[in-house]
Amino acid sequence: MIATILIVEDEAAIQELIAYNVQRAGYECICVENAEKALAVINDALPDLIVLDWMLPQMSGIEFARILRSHERTRAIPIIMLTARTEEADKVSALEIGADDYMTKPFSPRELIARIHAVLRRLPAAACDEIIKIDGLRLSPADHRVTCSGSVIELGPTEYRLLHFLMTHPERVYSRDQLLHQVWGDQVSAEGRTVDVHIRRLRKALEAVSKDDYIQTVRGIGYRFSATAMSFVKDSDATT
Ligand code: CA
Repeated sequence: MIATILIVEDEAAIQELIAYNVQRAGYECICVENAEKALAVINDALPDLIVLDWMLPQMSGIEFARILRSHERTRAIPIIMLTARTEEADKVSALEIGADDYMTKPFSPRELIARIHAVLRRLPAAACDEIIKIDGLRLSPADHRVTCSGSVIELGPTEYRLLHFLMTHPERVYSRDQLLHQVWGDQVSAEGRTVDVHIRRLRKALEAVSKDDYIQTVRGIGYRFSATAMSFVKDSDATT
């Protein structure tokens, strides 16, 4: 899976410089210039890492990081803070609120990329590191890779988590509310419709390897992952 990096930086030149280097390093990137827009992005799908500027208009980076750390759904997103400040006290408060790393401007883009690699590498893959294999579909939590007979299936972070949950709980039906709770956590703004959208994207990704019928719609109830029974409705609108 390609990791998505969210860059929150209000200075256009720096934002561009980071984005250029992040993309060149093979990551997806989303750029926003304030905390409010960052939150909208995060509400849609969790990024794998945030590069967060300290000095932002309106809400500061540090305040935003504190909010992310106080919610269950966003608590674990790695954050690398950027700042022009050099005082020791600032570094301490950045690390105290739980930033995973800290860089002082001006910084070398190469060093930032090295730190992004390092932070992503030490992500708690330990939580559930076991490779899951179901009838040709292989999901490896250690590197977030999903493959089918050797072909890599490209998934967004939410589709990945959705598939991970479904593959670790196969042959069981989950309502959209249950999936929201399990996959999206405590996010209040998400609705059942969000689940349908991501199920559709997941199916589309699995279609490339003809495994889209593993994600089954159970009419009037919800969804199930099943590699055995193929007789269910595929249409994701069937539950509405
Ligand atoms: Ca700034």
